[in-house]
Amino acid sequence: MPRPPFPKTLRQFQSDFATEEACEQYLAACRWPEGFLCPRCGNLRSYELVNQRRWQCAGCRHQVSLTAGTVLHRTKTPLTHWFWAAYLMTTDKRGVSALLLQRQLGLSCYETAWMLLHKLRRAMVNVAREPLHGEVEVDETWIGGEQAGLRGSRQLKGRRAALVLVAVERRGRGSGRIRMKVIPDFKGKTIIPFLHQNVSPGSTIYTDGLKSFEGLREAGFKHIARTQPLRSALRKGAKSAVPLADRAIGNLQQWLIGTYHGVSKAQLQVYLDEFVFRHNRRKTPAAAFQTLLGLGTGRESTEYDQIRGAKDLNRNLLGFAESTR
Ligand SMILES: [Zn+2]
Repeated sequence: MPRPPFPKTLRQFQSDFATEEACEQYLAACRWPEGFLCPRCGNLRSYELVNQRRWQCAGCRHQVSLTAGTVLHRTKTPLTHWFWAAYLMTTDKRGVSALLLQRQLGLSCYETAWMLLHKLRRAMVNVAREPLHGEVEVDETWIGGEQAGLRGSRQLKGRRAALVLVAVERRGRGSGRIRMKVIPDFKGKTIIPFLHQNVSPGSTIYTDGLKSFEGLREAGFKHIARTQPLRSALRKGAKSAVPLADRAIGNLQQWLIGTYHGVSKAQLQVYLDEFVFRHNRRKTPAAAFQTLLGLGTGRESTEYDQIRGAKDLNRNLLGFAESTR
């Protein structure tokens, strides 16, 4: 049973995955690329239990779930909806908001669309991922929370915006992979563990001249710090110390505002993960689609309560929350 080719267009996707059966066939093809094999008796023959998301062994009658170990397990939502949501999330450049998905799927309930997207977002962090390496630009930025009366850009206390650390690989003149994380402060003991987790030792790290980045050499990196020109000089064409990090931050800000009209501080990390996932897999939509649905990764699905745990969406607003109301 060959794995079906990934649809190249929206129209083709809609016709390939129009029914529950078609989605089940795809799941089976992902689970058994070489054809069914009974885990209990080793039999190769099976029956499909249509619309039950299960296959049954023709020898010992053992039943195997098509969705076990994936984000789709035990969900009452039709597979066509999951597939559609994952497809939009991996192919639409700007991503998709819960409101848009609700309209696209014709759902009566906003909450269902919101849950679908959040479950898929939680499949976007791969803990075993390869660290960045080679030449890496690192910078920090404030996201959201325009606010009057601040005493300078480094004030932490009472700050409504969130502080975010950004790392971008240099690949020639372009960007390679990226990482982003919400951090509580500018301290070395916050920044260095992030770098140890996300950048290979011995890599060359480019930063501006801020104090936060002292100690990178002792931490096992090569470090090139350059004073960042003033904003007015940058506008006149002066070269930034970290041009790729600047670009990534600009893209992030536009994306957050354009797609989600800003998000809550409590949920920001989830959206950073989505941005990073999207960026790092922009050239491999088929692999991204399968990763989201948990096919072949054995990922557990996130329970509803865990997601609702971050439901203080109407507090700490960075603009308008994409809230569950
Ligand atoms: Zn069997």
